[in-house]
Amino acid sequence: MSDGTTLCQTCKDVAVSEFLPLGMQPACLFPENETQAENEPAWPLDLGFCPRCSLVQIMEPVSERILFSGDYHHLAGLTGGYRLHLRALADELAQLHAPHPGSEPRRHFAVEIGSNDGSLLDELAERDFTVLGIDPNGADSPGGSPVVREYFSSEVASQVLSDTRPADLVLALNTFAHVTNMHDFLDGVRSLMSDHGMFVSESHYLPDLLETLQYDFAYHEHSRYYSLTALQAAFEPHGLEVFRIDRIATHGGSVRVYAGFKGAHEVHESVAALRDDEDRLELTGGAVYQKFAARVQEHRERLRGLLDELTGDGSRVAAASSPARAVTLLNYCSLGPAEIDFISEISPRKIGRLSPGTHIPIVHQDRLCGPEQPEYALLLSWHIAEELISRLREEGFTGKFVVPLPEPRVIS
Ligand SMILES: [Zn+2]
Repeated sequence: MSDGTTLCQTCKDVAVSEFLPLGMQPACLFPENETQAENEPAWPLDLGFCPRCSLVQIMEPVSERILFSGDYHHLAGLTGGYRLHLRALADELAQLHAPHPGSEPRRHFAVEIGSNDGSLLDELAERDFTVLGIDPNGADSPGGSPVVREYFSSEVASQVLSDTRPADLVLALNTFAHVTNMHDFLDGVRSLMSDHGMFVSESHYLPDLLETLQYDFAYHEHSRYYSLTALQAAFEPHGLEVFRIDRIATHGGSVRVYAGFKGAHEVHESVAALRDDEDRLELTGGAVYQKFAARVQEHRERLRGLLDELTGDGSRVAAASSPARAVTLLNYCSLGPAEIDFISEISPRKIGRLSPGTHIPIVHQDRLCGPEQPEYALLLSWHIAEELISRLREEGFTGKFVVPLPEPRVIS
């Protein structure tokens, strides 16, 4: 809007209220060298909430076509924990789609939007689903699950439907919060789905983000942060409703949301229960967000103070791994090569590059765990701290760990 007002992406006619400026932030693209680093674009990352539906959103979202261009690949199959998560999800979906006693068994059709490396589709194919992925950067999966390489939209949904039947299951894991045009996306989901079909999505859960101070989860690639309240408001105009919602541990607190056409599925008690919890938090009022913003500002000072204190005697700090969520934390706290010697990684896609915005060199994990190792390792993937600590100990790191969030602390 030219007058500086940002309207809610769901409600369309309600002005969003800004509560947290996180400064200029780059995309999660890792510069290959100094020249690329100097020309790296950045955009303001400011969060606001909608006083009607509680949707938290980036005030000025950057187009997904800019953000997900080039070499951006999350690669779902990369971590063992996430693969187990997908396997368990596939089991659950297979159970939900099991034939009723006495009825003819038939193959169910599942479409995954944002299918990434096809890990989940391969799992579903093994459980007798017919599968199709839609992902502009979709990789060929080991199981050979087919993929349409397009950004999902209502138009792409119609193209897909001209070649195939409506889907029993439409999936979107950590995708539905990223897309630029949410309403067009939901139109597409709606047209792709059979009358009794279900749309299963997983997204980060706003109340978890607020409670555990996960401002590092805010980055340009995530333009919205959902509560159940916000999801219900988004689905309603498309004739869809949430019929079940499960809280899951992914990314430090997420929800798995089951939606279908209104009245097509029995509504599970989890929906009313979670909605009651959210009403108590008053997510459409400003107080909860103002409190969060104050804690975030205080956190920056405390983390910088702790690192100053630790390095006061000449000790060195390096960071362990460079997840997308580290970009906001490092940039917001102004932590660069002066504070952090290097970031260790095992991904060949990142080694040899620089961290977005802060330009800390990314090197092989051997340097963190070898003979010249630093005294402290900052855990940027702090939401899986335990798993990382045991892995780095096994690799030979003998120093102490700094966990940045929710409270900056040192673990020996
Ligand atoms: Zn709204």
